[in-house]
Amino acid sequence: MSSSTVTPRPAIDKVAIREKYLAERDKRLRADGNAQYLRIADQLAHYLEDPYTPRVERAAKTDHVTFTFIGGGFAGLVTGARLVEAGITDVRIVEKGGDFGGTWYWNRYPGAQCDTASMIYMPLLEETGHMPTEKYAHAPEILEQCQRIGRQYGLYDNALFHTEISALTWDEAASHWVVETHRGDRFTSDFVGLGTGPLHVPKLPGIPGIESFKGHSFHTSRWDYGYTGGDPKGGALTGLADKRVAIIGTGATSVQCVPHLAKACRELLVVQRTPSSVDVRANVPIDPDWFASIATPGWQGRWLENFTANQAGGNAEIDLVQDGWTDLSRRIRAKILDLPKDQRSPMNMLAAYEDSDYEKMEEIRARVDSLVSDHETAQNLKAWYRQLCKRPCFHDSYLQAFNTPGTRLIDTDGKGVERITEKGLVVAGVEYEVDCIIYASGFEVGTDYTRRTGFDLTGVGGLKLSEAWASGMRSKHGIHVHGFPNAFFVQPTQGANLISNVPHNLTDSGRTIATVVAHARARGAQRVEVTQAAQDAWIDLLLTGAGRMLGSPDCTPGYYNNEGQAAGPGAELYVGYPAGATAYFAYIDDWRKSGRFDGLAFS
Ligand code: NDP
Repeated sequence: MSSSTVTPRPAIDKVAIREKYLAERDKRLRADGNAQYLRIADQLAHYLEDPYTPRVERAAKTDHVTFTFIGGGFAGLVTGARLVEAGITDVRIVEKGGDFGGTWYWNRYPGAQCDTASMIYMPLLEETGHMPTEKYAHAPEILEQCQRIGRQYGLYDNALFHTEISALTWDEAASHWVVETHRGDRFTSDFVGLGTGPLHVPKLPGIPGIESFKGHSFHTSRWDYGYTGGDPKGGALTGLADKRVAIIGTGATSVQCVPHLAKACRELLVVQRTPSSVDVRANVPIDPDWFASIATPGWQGRWLENFTANQAGGNAEIDLVQDGWTDLSRRIRAKILDLPKDQRSPMNMLAAYEDSDYEKMEEIRARVDSLVSDHETAQNLKAWYRQLCKRPCFHDSYLQAFNTPGTRLIDTDGKGVERITEKGLVVAGVEYEVDCIIYASGFEVGTDYTRRTGFDLTGVGGLKLSEAWASGMRSKHGIHVHGFPNAFFVQPTQGANLISNVPHNLTDSGRTIATVVAHARARGAQRVEVTQAAQDAWIDLLLTGAGRMLGSPDCTPGYYNNEGQAAGPGAELYVGYPAGATAYFAYIDDWRKSGRFDGLAFS
């Protein structure tokens, strides 16, 4: 086709789209916010049971260890690895699951895979010598990488699985932590680390009648392969061949498992409240020859740095990773660079960002039309909000799954399921009888930190973490908190805050913690704590930044914006280093290397 015959794209009617965005948001706003969801407890507690690993009886621990880490996901594994590399081998990881892996332990639903390129998402690839098999690895390979890290660094020897913390209390006289668990352990630890993750407590929608359903049901993070047949490696879900199944929810999890369900079920009903934006995935196997050519010493660090530069400031001349996230940020940057230099005011830059967003979302909506045969279904699968209002999704067979005979979209027009009955579910007054309901309803995010962890850290003088953070999180680097000596938090906020590749934040924090602990031991210090002044100065610095990127009240409700409710106390503190993630990683590297550890008091 010659260029003269290409049909020009119609101009985007921004006013009409903005109105549509607001109308779709308004339809979904509800006064109960997070309270619409059910806490899984009591008669619903079976939804939390571990279907993957039997619980092994063991004697309670009453000993002393150098370092205890709460959580055996990426945060615990990378911190444990860095500690071992620094010569601190007496590390005990306490984990509620039956093995390492965290989110990848629990999420074994069919089709689960990473949404950020494996080369940067999977931690410690260079250290373990593992080559990812695909650009976006599937869950079993990521879980195996977690287990590989555990084995290589000897972290299994001292780990406590199927164990939940009941109390963590600082003993000032002895300068150590007292660790208590639901399994009767009561041991002491010089240092503690916390990496409990943001999305680890499954939630159920508070749909009236949910307890009355007499068929089979489970949450996607506790996939029942005993019922569905198949396995996490892609084995066919043969148990569903004669079943009518409903999956409730159309977020990132549902997008990945619906294509597998569509192939397997006699009938599949995909029950939607808000559509996801589903962009191209383009997964490919990784070629070992190509990998050998790039995997020269320091390769993963260079890839991480390059991804971050493309996302959050830095030299982004080249894009090694080339995934959905770098595409997004490169488009935004290109729009901003189109502005004449003297017109790059914050207002104009935000408008350029918005223009890039309209273009991207129009493309994503057009993609639905090009892939879904039924017109009405296609219209209902279109996402009407700015891309970062909800978690962007990427998939090459989700939308096509709606062309499978027997697969139907039940769109609830933003209202959700009305009722659950003994036999199925009701949407807009119509009852759909099903054999099985799968809840792809996500995880608690906006609830209290202590509700999600199940314990409250008790620091100096009995100070509780919930009190210290009553008006918002306060820390230095997102790691050290005044009043809680020898305790370290491993999470992105108040540090790099690089949301598009969380493992990078975690791996870097692990390095910081290992450096600080090694320094404390080398100088014979028993106690390390951030000073109040240093913590306050860090918070003041954070507040000079541009503020939060996610969570606009104009967005359709979801966990990115506290379900459309007021952001709550301290929301302005959920930010990162004002100069961006690339600058943060450079800053913290200098901080570690200086050997001064400015802001920390060792005694
Ligand atoms: P989400 O919270 O994103 O999705 C929950 C879904 O349930 C939404 O579609 C929600 O609709 C729907 N829902 C809630 N209540 C009702 C109701 N009453 N009736 C009908 N539908 C309802 O959970 P996910 O498990 O999909 O994803 C959680 C997060 O986990 C992701 O955002 C992502 O960060 C992470 N994840 C990452 C993956 C990866 O990296 N590969 C893969 C999967 C998940 P509504 O939108 O209207 O609230």
